[in-house]
Order: sequence, then structure tokens, then C-alpha cells
Amino acid sequence: MSVVSVRRMQATTQRGNLCDDSRMSSRQITIIANWKANLPPSEEVALAKEIAAGVGGALQASGSPSSLRVLLAPSALGLVPVASLLRREYPQAGIEVAAQDSSLSSAGAFTGEIPADHLVGIAPAVIVGHSERRRDHGESDEVVGGKLARVVAAGLAPVLCLGDDLPKAEIAARVDVVQAQCAAAFAAAERAGCSAAQLFSAGLVIAYEPIWAIGTGNPASVEIAEAIASGLRSALHREELPVLYGGSVDAASAAPWFGAPGSRTDIDGLLVGGASLHADRFGAIVRAALAATEPA
Ligand code: PEP
Repeated sequence: MSVVSVRRMQATTQRGNLCDDSRMSSRQITIIANWKANLPPSEEVALAKEIAAGVGGALQASGSPSSLRVLLAPSALGLVPVASLLRREYPQAGIEVAAQDSSLSSAGAFTGEIPADHLVGIAPAVIVGHSERRRDHGESDEVVGGKLARVVAAGLAPVLCLGDDLPKAEIAARVDVVQAQCAAAFAAAERAGCSAAQLFSAGLVIAYEPIWAIGTGNPASVEIAEAIASGLRSALHREELPVLYGGSVDAASAAPWFGAPGSRTDIDGLLVGGASLHADRFGAIVRAALAATEPA
């Protein structure tokens, strides 16, 4: 186990509601399935059922969500039916839902928007600043920071996506880009009335998602992601900041992201896109995480 891992396990600062490890002897792993806009809600419910039927028993046996937290992020239309299914039919599995996005606006006369306030009681966590939102909807750091502030004000945990677009760069250059992106989002959140301390106590999780890795079949190396995580933790003075990785992880490439019991990596979990649309592949990723959480 690395020095950073040991320091993080020893950290006494309490995490917020997405990654609360204050009761644990080891760090919590978080796995989020991002289904994007791939499926209509009826198929999202069927997929959630298949996933819960496949790994629910193992999650229950492991005491999930204390050491491993699994969240499914369906489309906005699927949030309520998927959350209802999981609570009604698989309450012991501890699988939750996350929203893929929420609005910059508050509740009010904003046609088509989904304010973070309206997700309360449905989704405990909200993905903010995914690169597809930044690319396809022109979401600037200012918008991302404003959304972070709304999510925190609603009492939900933000999952902030950051990532470089540098397929061939040295690690140090990537760290610089991602640190700058993070600083810009934090500064914008502050302007929107949400301090760094508030982000942390809301349970902020960062997902490092390099743009060159998403949907390409070429994941980043664990070494790159650990360097990014370490750079963010030191820039934010937050050794226990949970940092996930996302980008082309599949069943066959999942295990190295977790390490093994007693020698875990410094990555706290995965945000999974394409592979999460297949219950068997996503189930294998969850099982790889479970294996890493077993006592050494
Ligand atoms: C994503 O878009 O968040 C993602 C991780 O996608 P994929 O796993 O398909 O690369």
C-alpha cells in the first residue's frame, strides 16, 4: 500500500454522504454506471433488474454500501422507475441511483430543466461536468461551478468530472491541465456561493475521465490516474479526496484499478460507460471491486 493510501486511511476528516469512510477500516470503493441516453426507461429498469439480480446477493453479503458503493445513473426519465425498482425489489443490495446531470437553474419557470432540488429523495449523487456535456452543450467551468453549487445546496453529493484532452502528453502536463480545470470549477462554485469546504462536506467525488480514453477502448494507465489523483489531493490539501477513474474500463481491465486487499491503488473506484450497459460486464467490474475490499 502506498504512503498516500496509509495517510488517507489515517485521515480523520469526515467525508460527506457519497463516500463516508469514517466508520470503516479501509477506504470505500464507488462504482458508477453511466448509461447516458442509450436506453428508454423500460429497458433501463430491465437492466437495473438484471444487474441487481446478478450482484445484489454478493453486495448484500459484503455489507454494501459500507465498503463498496454501487450507483446506476440512468437517463432523467429512468431515475424514478429505476430507483423505485431497486428500493422495492432489491433493498438489501444497497444499489442506488445517481443523476447524470442537473440544472444550473433553481426550481421555477425554466422549461425543460431538472433542478437539483427535485432530485432529493431520488438520487443521492449527481454527475456534474461530464465531458459530453462540456462538448455538446458548451458547458463552461462557470456553468459547472454553478451546477456544483446547486447540487450542494440541495444536499446531494456532486461527482465532478475532469479530464485532459492530451492523448500523448507527459504525466506532468496532464496533472497541470486537470488541476487548472478543477481550480476553475471550484472558483466558479465559490462565486455561486459554495465554498470548497462545503463541496467537501457534501461528499464531493472527482472522476478523472481523460477525453482520449472515453469510448475509445483505450483506458488510461493506473499510473496516470494515480498521478492525477495525487496532484488534485495536494492542490486541494485534501488527502482523503475520493478520486474515481472513467474511460473505457471493461470487465477484463477492471481489476488493476482496485489492486488487491492490503495493496489497494490510490483510485477510489470507477465511472463506467459502455460496459455498464451489459449486466454481465458491469457485474464482473463490481465483483472485481468486491474482491479488492475483502480483508487481506
Ligand atoms: C464515460 O463516458 O463516462 C465513460 C467512462 O465511458 P466509457 O466507459 O464508455 O469510456
